[in-house]
Amino acid sequence: MTLMRSWVDSANSPDCPFPLNNLPFGVMSRQGENARHCAIAIGDCALDLAHLGETSFFASQDVASAFRENTLNAFLELGRPNWLALRRQLQEALSADAPTSLQQSLRTCLVPLGEVVMHLPLHITGYSDFFAGYHHAVNTGKIIRGAESLPPNWLHMPIAYNGRTSTIVTSGTPVRRPLGQTRIGDDAPRFQPCQTLDFELEMAAVVGKGSELGEPIAPEDAEDMIFGYTLLNDWSARDIQRWEYQPLGPFLGKAFATTMSPWIVMKEALEPFRRDVDPPKSPLLPYLAGYGSVYDIELGVELKPSGAERYETISTSNHKYLYYSAAQALVHHAIGGCTMNAGDILGSGTISGPVPEQYGSLLELSWGGKNPLKLSSGHERCYLEDGDSLMLVGNARGDGFTIGFGPCEGTIMPAPKSVGRSVLWS
Ligand code: MN
Repeated sequence: MTLMRSWVDSANSPDCPFPLNNLPFGVMSRQGENARHCAIAIGDCALDLAHLGETSFFASQDVASAFRENTLNAFLELGRPNWLALRRQLQEALSADAPTSLQQSLRTCLVPLGEVVMHLPLHITGYSDFFAGYHHAVNTGKIIRGAESLPPNWLHMPIAYNGRTSTIVTSGTPVRRPLGQTRIGDDAPRFQPCQTLDFELEMAAVVGKGSELGEPIAPEDAEDMIFGYTLLNDWSARDIQRWEYQPLGPFLGKAFATTMSPWIVMKEALEPFRRDVDPPKSPLLPYLAGYGSVYDIELGVELKPSGAERYETISTSNHKYLYYSAAQALVHHAIGGCTMNAGDILGSGTISGPVPEQYGSLLELSWGGKNPLKLSSGHERCYLEDGDSLMLVGNARGDGFTIGFGPCEGTIMPAPKSVGRSVLWS
């Protein structure tokens, strides 16, 4: 596939993250205004779909009214035939061949990306974070448990924890260092700010079509129930996590923030980069054996240490390193009857590649805090410090075009010292 040319000139550059081939969905407001509008990104602009709905562009009233909502959930509820029809219609209307009158009408709905504020695009009722990266699972076993082998269940199913939807935030939201309990060795437990604050390089699959309570999802249907993908940073407080996680799994060590990139890239935009997951190292039970897709998406992690001038790349990885696909995660999630809703997200788990430059967390990059990362700015880091900014980036590179995700960024703020009249720590 090659670049699809648009009359929005900025969309035709080979490095533009939002060419006509992409058309990701998000929710924006104009700077200084409160109203949130559904939008797609094209070139250096957002196309306001709520305004577009005031013209006769959408044949269906259902589509126009879905775009009057302040999240994309109502649009997702309309189902896959509507998603695909709308994508086709928008691609035709924004293509370089579109009639001039149509171009003029759409031009009035364009807003420069520099003049919009992006919001969480979904009302998320369920967020589960998987552990589907093979290299990450192997590395964390070695670092945390001193184990040479994977957990006994790992090769048999995509394992996960149930995350918090209430603390999912969009890119740019500051992340406050969490307070919590930790324990070092056999010492008494302490209460203090997290000392080992980390990121996790992940992608989220957005569930487009839900399932009914008590009803499993057919493996052959799962892939088409996924609407698209975003970048996801599962911020992690390693010391809090390590003390609390047994036997029920991560809790407050992961519950203080999870950052999502603002634009949902549709599965169809990623189709040229699709590949089957590798055959499993150990046979899977039949309900999981449909495998599904991963994508050749270049992922990067950039760190701007407190006081530094600019971001520096500290890791590069790729979505294709995942062992389990989002379709397998979705089938497994619903197999016991758990309800899945449109707008739910499935975190992939940390996506580390096979070599150290591709590790997707500081836990792995500093090997449990033993090998500080040396940055060209002169800074050293084992874990994140207050004032550090961290950004995930994702780009799939085609022949003369790029499918980008927009940034997934957050800056670390100091832990609170007191609440009400209570001093929490000093
Ligand atoms: Mn995670």
